[in-house]
Amino acid sequence: VVRVRGLTKRFGERTVLDGVDLDIARGEFVALLGRSGSGKSTLLRALAGLDDATGGELSVDGTVAVAFQEPRLVPWKRVRANVALGLRVPDPRAAADKALAEVGLTERGGAWPLTLSGGEAQRASLARALVREPDLLLLDEPFSALDALTRITMHRLVLDLWERHRPGILLVTHDVDEALLLADRVLVLDGGRIAHESRVDLDRPRHRDHPDLTALRAAL
Ligand code: ATP
Ligand code: MG
Repeated sequence: VVRVRGLTKRFGERTVLDGVDLDIARGEFVALLGRSGSGKSTLLRALAGLDDATGGELSVDGTVAVAFQEPRLVPWKRVRANVALGLRVPDPRAAADKALAEVGLTERGGAWPLTLSGGEAQRASLARALVREPDLLLLDEPFSALDALTRITMHRLVLDLWERHRPGILLVTHDVDEALLLADRVLVLDGGRIAHESRVDLDRPRHRDHPDLTALRAAL
């Protein structure tokens, strides 16, 4: 779904992306690591078609959904309307409510975005991306503001969509364990390029199963 060759991006004098090559196949789960300021969000914005690259080739096939690093909910629309925005299904409102229930926000559908906590806004943004069932899912640190248990639940949701619909996924994260847990391939962006690539055993389990997990969840 993604083919990128020699992608460059400059902001004035600064070269942030300096010849990125990247392929993501349909059904492939790729994690992207890199230091703060290395250009991960810049790369995602280019893939989402939100920002023009300075040079290189980029092609993306199919529909794209993005969960941004900052949730970017439309402030004058209620949370449910944000999730349903532009959704082309017979009953967008019902689909939005289902997605909100999955991320644990059933009771916040009628709320205004500015009244959400950071983690709630992140989950609403994730619901908005997942409900679209895109061919390419771009996730920019979607779990950073979540507590550890909620994060595990959100991993499950992303994996469910991935197993059901087989989109290509590019997940930006600062959490190496999370990258190795979820992805088929882990990339490191450094010096404006993909500086390292690790392949992960494709047949391993991708969830954290622990007998106490259910009990811990129930106690919270
Ligand atoms: P983080 O992990 O902190 O989110 P990142 O890898 O996502 O970092 P980017 O947001 O892609 O980093 O930014 C890469 C560099 O590009 C930074 O130095 C940033 O200041 C610069 N940059 C990003 N957007 C712009 C812009 N619109 N104008 C000027 N500089 C920008
Ligand atoms: Mg970023």
